[in-house]
Amino acid sequence: MLGRPDVAAVRYDRARGVQAPAHAVRIVEADCIGCTKCIQACPVDAIVGGPKHMHSVLEPLCTGCDLCIPACPVDCIITVAPA
Ligand code: SF4
Ligand code: SF4
Repeated sequence: MLGRPDVAAVRYDRARGVQAPAHAVRIVEADCIGCTKCIQACPVDAIVGGPKHMHSVLEPLCTGCDLCIPACPVDCIITVAPA
């Protein structure tokens, strides 16, 4: 809520779109080439790592939005059950 009387809250409409089960992602660290593309794609800063070094997902912070998965050029990001 924004505390603005002119803005009404709209309920989430579960009849629209595809509802995916809750999940997080994990990086297969042995395959990571350290390109940093997943960090740039993550909207909640749930990925740590540096250029040309292994990256990791901070799973408690991961919302499961999956935006990092297509960003990875070597397909080393997998979905897992939530932490
Ligand atoms: S799934 Fe979304 S929130 Fe989780 S690490 Fe990837 S981009 Fe970040
Ligand atoms: S996008 Fe893939 S290869 Fe690049 S840093 Fe992230 S996990 Fe590693």
